[in-house]
Amino acid sequence: MTTPSSRIRTRFAPSPTGFIHLGNIRSALYPWAFARATGGDFILRIEDTDLDRSTQASVDVIIEGMAWLGLDHDEGPFYQMQRMDRYKAVLADLQAAGHVYPCYMSMEELDALRERQMANKEKPRYDGTWRPMPGKTLPSVPEGVKPVLRFKNPLGGVVAWDDKVKGRIEISNDELDDLVIARPDGTPTYNFCVVVDDIDMQITHVIRGDDHVNNTPRQINIFKALGAEPPVYAHLPTVLNEQGEKMSKRNGAKAVTAYRDEGYLPDAMVNYLARLGWSHGDDEIFSRQQFLEWFNLDHLGRSAAQFDEAKLKWVNAQHLKALPDEQLAQRVLPHLAQLGVTADDRLASICGLFKDRCDTLVVLANWIAAFYVDVVPNAEEKAQHVTDAVKPALLALACKLSVCAWDKTTIAAAIKETLTETGLKMPQIAMPVRVLVMGTAQTPSLDAVLALSQREKILARLKNA
Ligand code: GLU
Repeated sequence: MTTPSSRIRTRFAPSPTGFIHLGNIRSALYPWAFARATGGDFILRIEDTDLDRSTQASVDVIIEGMAWLGLDHDEGPFYQMQRMDRYKAVLADLQAAGHVYPCYMSMEELDALRERQMANKEKPRYDGTWRPMPGKTLPSVPEGVKPVLRFKNPLGGVVAWDDKVKGRIEISNDELDDLVIARPDGTPTYNFCVVVDDIDMQITHVIRGDDHVNNTPRQINIFKALGAEPPVYAHLPTVLNEQGEKMSKRNGAKAVTAYRDEGYLPDAMVNYLARLGWSHGDDEIFSRQQFLEWFNLDHLGRSAAQFDEAKLKWVNAQHLKALPDEQLAQRVLPHLAQLGVTADDRLASICGLFKDRCDTLVVLANWIAAFYVDVVPNAEEKAQHVTDAVKPALLALACKLSVCAWDKTTIAAAIKETLTETGLKMPQIAMPVRVLVMGTAQTPSLDAVLALSQREKILARLKNA
């Protein structure tokens, strides 16, 4: 048994603004995998304090997308908006301990300060006007102005941490000004809430996007002021889209759930996303279980990873091929339902016959549909293969198929006999039959396809040629 303090606890803390895409969900995959690989806990926290931009629809996509990918959480979802009282209580403690002070500087004064600093080629930062110091006289408090609360950042020294991705990072405290941690209406600000949550939820490892690196030194200082040990940090490099830009909804990134609808398997997605910033030697294709056996924070990549849809499709095809037919049959059901197809007990065998030529479940479902609903032969292929010259042979074959036993060997024999009787070569019969039966000439071996089809349907399709 691990004691609570040695147990690894990770979290995924998305902001529900816009639909979660693959770049975001990778920040859920790694903390989930780390918790699972180490027997720890994975916590889901929804950072919904941006009231203007947070939506329930976006929360739904997060929860649905994670459930689909099998990224199950042990605790949560916790919503920051429901924890406001807790943040305010901690803020009051921090204030009582002397780590916080009111600042009455107006927006106009702040703007003027920034302009002066920029004109002097200095980095814009709050200058500590309202920070109490021994022997310092503070300006007189303006009337009717509600102050913000600022955090007393330590003066001098450095904030340092050993980032599991980026290595040692040291930031001089002089670079950090006194952060606003509560607005004039008393609501706490982002960085403060994150720290209170990470403390309360006993997070041991924060694994998140590197767009938060700049927040980390500020958060570490708040941890220390609250008397808490900061967690281990791992800041993941960005995921780029196919054009090499940072993946974002604004430049066309799809919601995670779109990949479910397009027929990707959760295990293939996990495999693909895992490799987008982490490696285990040269292993490209692996199961969820292998991933959890191998995953640790020591092999996270340092450079940005680029999304590649063709590669994702290839990974999906490998997983499709490897899935047992019965399981594949279960997976394809929702996609068949989309096509209005109700399958029967032939489904698993049909999946087995077609799985190595499909890269998504949608492609597979389209093949399967040909066994259950009418197919419209591809016009070009029909013109090419179903010629008047072969039609008598097709009728002859239909005649044999109408009486023979319905299994692959017997069907193969019937096709062979037809070839002998008509003097045609295999493709001259096989191609038109495939076009009529499946809609296209590019199918698995004809006897196998026919054996899985219904005799009546085949006869009707051959006779109507
Ligand atoms: N809510 C932040 C985001 O969605 C993540 C914060 C964190 O992981 O600390 O980018």
